[in-house]
Amino acid sequence: MSAKIFSIANQKGGVGKTTTAINLSAALALKGIKTLLIDLDPQGNATSGLGIEKTKNGSLYGPLHGKDSSLEKIINTKQKNLSLIPSEVDLAAIEVELAQSKNYLLKLQSCLLPIKKSGSFQAIILDCPPALGLISMNSLCAADYLIVALQCEYLAMEGLSQILNVVDQLKQAKINPTLQIGGILMTMFDIRTRLSTQVLNEVQQHFPEKIFKTIIPRSIRLSEAPSFGKTIFDYDPTSSGAIAYQNFAKEVSKRFTLL
Ligand code: ATP
Ligand code: MG
Repeated sequence: MSAKIFSIANQKGGVGKTTTAINLSAALALKGIKTLLIDLDPQGNATSGLGIEKTKNGSLYGPLHGKDSSLEKIINTKQKNLSLIPSEVDLAAIEVELAQSKNYLLKLQSCLLPIKKSGSFQAIILDCPPALGLISMNSLCAADYLIVALQCEYLAMEGLSQILNVVDQLKQAKINPTLQIGGILMTMFDIRTRLSTQVLNEVQQHFPEKIFKTIIPRSIRLSEAPSFGKTIFDYDPTSSGAIAYQNFAKEVSKRFTLL
């Protein structure tokens, strides 16, 4: 069976995309699901968060330009079943460079075909940069499912409807007609604030089928782990964040029949 591709996106910065991409990937891998995490953000936070250095020619930059195969960019991580295609600073230039080429929305899709077909992975997780620029748009065009990381904060719903509109447009224009909203993951939930609960209730009301049951709590341990180059499961496996991401992976593997 070919891999299912998940894009973790939200045009808003700092909402928990990378934290989710890393820890969902790690949790899936722990369940025995062969997982590939692809860092599409020139900031490279998913790469450094796994304790891996950004290296020249290590990212999808070359393959996106039709040079090298994406298969050559896959590296192992210290965790079993978890591979990575790292980021590098050059990726930033892609935003401008792709705009000048034909089929610029479908570059990533064709780049990922050999990986998808190789049968080496069951799940491919794409960590997107903030903003709906060409990298994020390419990721939505390559994905089977969009997972929106949504911070429990003011104006979360407005941001959510923007990205859902983009998905509708891509489907209607038949650019990626099979793209589905995989789900909405509420992040950085703070039980002590009324706002967190309000936002959660609102999303539950509007998207009862799409919102994941698992809610990611605000947790200092989750924010500390990347500075040690560790997933939450290596850093503090009994913390509330680790348990939440483990539950999330369980939900994802069930919803998308990954096992
Ligand atoms: P960007 O848009 O810049 O790529 P992002 O959406 O990928 O950001 P993250 O990098 O995952 O967001 O998170 C932003 C910050 O919040 C980071 O410092 C991260 O460690 C912290 N953070 C993420 N999730 C949580 C959480 N559940 N509890 C506490 N801190 C968190
Ligand atoms: Mg990020």
